[in-house]
Amino acid sequence: MRIGIDLGGTKIEGIAIADDGRERLRRRMAAPRDDYANTLAALAGLVHDIEQELGVQGTVGVGIPGTLSPATGLVKNSNSTWLIGRPLSEDLERLLDRPIRFANDANCFALSEATDGAAAGADVVFGVIVGTGTGGGVVIHRQVLVGANAIAGEWGHNPLPAARGIESPGPACYCGRRGCIETFLSGPGLARDYAESGPSTGSGQAGVTAEDVAARAAGGEALADAALARYEDRMARALASVINILDPDVIVLGGGLSNIDRLYTNVPRLWSPHVFSDRVTTRLVRAVHGDASGVRGAAWLWEKEPPSAQRSQRG
Ligand SMILES: [Zn+2]
Repeated sequence: MRIGIDLGGTKIEGIAIADDGRERLRRRMAAPRDDYANTLAALAGLVHDIEQELGVQGTVGVGIPGTLSPATGLVKNSNSTWLIGRPLSEDLERLLDRPIRFANDANCFALSEATDGAAAGADVVFGVIVGTGTGGGVVIHRQVLVGANAIAGEWGHNPLPAARGIESPGPACYCGRRGCIETFLSGPGLARDYAESGPSTGSGQAGVTAEDVAARAAGGEALADAALARYEDRMARALASVINILDPDVIVLGGGLSNIDRLYTNVPRLWSPHVFSDRVTTRLVRAVHGDASGVRGAAWLWEKEPPSAQRSQRG
């Protein structure tokens, strides 16, 4: 049995997947905030509860916001800041008395979709989460590519390719740079672009979410349609640079903005001029497991070897 845990900023989710791939149970609880010791206790408690209920021990994979630094083994790049610099892997392995595999949450998403989701059977998969932020993960032959710095797939803080007009130098990003892909392709990025595009007063554009923009565009509003068209063009340029480097068979979109239907026809139409190839056969598809992809991917971190065969994977 494989147990997957998805540690989020506000909730912790757990899943048990039987050896035949069937889901046996799922649990969800609030995540302790600003408290490392309680986070650790909650993770261990959830695994114990699942094993007690099912009466069997499992392998444990954990998806985390951020990643484990290959240099130190400590958590880095996490927006759950109370985890940063903590020996989460070492502490949880001690509490649960077994090796545990960790991965970035976007990597778990990509692994889930590559294992039995929208990209099942594909050799090279790039998974993208477009929501509050813009995360990415790479899976090759159903294994997460971690990378030397454990940041493989983290494209959101690259500059938007072929930037022009107001895109350059572009909006300030929380990472300290300007014009990052995330500032355009995240939900807040789309909402901001729409809000800034029309008349400044009385236009009803302030406080509008990315979801609203998509709904207004579907309803025929010209400003929203134009904002979405800009969004598609930017996504096409950003993904074309990924295709040029990684050449994935499938790109899977997850997160709130993946629900916008027109992306799947318009973006591939727009990316060809930016890809160094006579034809582009890469498929752009929507995630099939939705919000459950993170926790499912965490469980699949133990897809290859049995727990006795390998120490925990750093990354
Ligand atoms: Zn940035």
